Amino acid sequence: VAEAFNANVAAAQGALNAFIVATPEAAIAAAKATDAKRAAGETLGAMAGVPIGMKDLFATKGVQTTAASAILEGFKPEYESTVSQKLWDAGCGMLGKLNLDQFAMGSSNETSAFGNVVSPWRKPGSNAPLAPGGSSGGSSAAIAARLCPAATGTDTGGSIRQPAAFTGISGIKPTYGRCSRWGVVAFASSLDQAGPMARDVTDCAIMLEAMAGFDPKDSTSLDLPVPNWTAALSADLKGKRVGIPREYRMDGMDEEIVALWEQGKAWLRDAGAEVIDISLPHTKYALPTYYIIAPAEASSNLARYDGVRYGLRDLPDGAGLQDMYAATRAAGFGPEVKRRILIGTYVLSAGFYDAYYTQAQKVRTLISRDFTDAFASCDVILAPTTPTAAFALGENSDDPLAMYLNDVFSVPASLAGLPAMSVPAGLSSEGLPLGLQLIGPAFDEQIVLNAGLAIE
Ligand code: GLN
Repeated sequence: VAEAFNANVAAAQGALNAFIVATPEAAIAAAKATDAKRAAGETLGAMAGVPIGMKDLFATKGVQTTAASAILEGFKPEYESTVSQKLWDAGCGMLGKLNLDQFAMGSSNETSAFGNVVSPWRKPGSNAPLAPGGSSGGSSAAIAARLCPAATGTDTGGSIRQPAAFTGISGIKPTYGRCSRWGVVAFASSLDQAGPMARDVTDCAIMLEAMAGFDPKDSTSLDLPVPNWTAALSADLKGKRVGIPREYRMDGMDEEIVALWEQGKAWLRDAGAEVIDISLPHTKYALPTYYIIAPAEASSNLARYDGVRYGLRDLPDGAGLQDMYAATRAAGFGPEVKRRILIGTYVLSAGFYDAYYTQAQKVRTLISRDFTDAFASCDVILAPTTPTAAFALGENSDDPLAMYLNDVFSVPASLAGLPAMSVPAGLSSEGLPLGLQLIGPAFDEQIVLNAGLAIE
């Protein structure tokens, strides 16, 4: 199996560019170790020997870790991220490091310093290359093209769910704190959360069990046991209430998305659930709030890339320290990363901190409270994952606001730290995958997975 996936990875690289680096020998080594355990009569776990892709945001010991940025080129960590270590401990083997938007900033994979990923999907009758979504677009494209059965993703404002929706696969962002952030290149620390991406809900549940768990090395890690989600998987939703947030029904919303949402309600009713209307009144503030808080935290986190400690150093002749910082950062960061750093430093600056950052934190609390209130009357929320199916590469790349609008349905759950999943729910009239999103109360990944199972 490992050999077959290694061959697929190599064969598709030219067309899809899903991997930044392939590590075929690591996948083979894990397969051999699994074979040896089986031969020795050891009991094997569900992930034993499974070859997976690793988003290149997770530090992997001795294997270059770039966050798809030139500023980290050549950086080989001395340590392994907690999440990847847990997966290796479970017997997984690494097929390679997956491409992504630079520092996980983006929704199309076009901000990568290693070139964009191309979705394996095409509109029937068209050859125009489509975006695989972002930032976990290498992960989504690789799974959709069967280059790996599963992969890690990270989700700060939708980066697991949106690429999953664009490529017809499943992905879950667990409750903030479920998966350790230790060794994951930081984008926005109060939002960043790792999760699995795979072909279906069951695979996501199995993989999440291997990834999750308390880690004393991450101060925001949840000190809770990892539930046996797989054992409790059930598409029977009898007695459950599904909330439909009326504020997600936006003016000008694509009729196809509206129809998909209706279909999702019908499926959940068929599974025994009662579907009710709910209100999340501060929804319209989520996107602007996210695009203040995420860049603010990013500008702080990315201060460490100064040419001294990691990867790239640009030291012009006769230059001083400040010149080296400036030259390194000018050469190493891509345009979207620079935009976020500038926005972030602006909203954190003395004159504007209260007007933007403090205000955004207050609104974030209101958004969280909306969800808490809603979950008093429902068990899980159903919404679209994205406002449209996958767009063409290049279509939004000159218009950052159009790109940010893609995250309109995914950022509210991120701001509230809630578990949220995208499951494939059908094809658009143009033949492209569409996803539905399930959002659950904090710590209740189970209801999210079960409702996802009822839809898939
Ligand atoms: N598309 C969003 C952004 O650009 C989300 C990215 C993410 O979740 N990492 O910030």
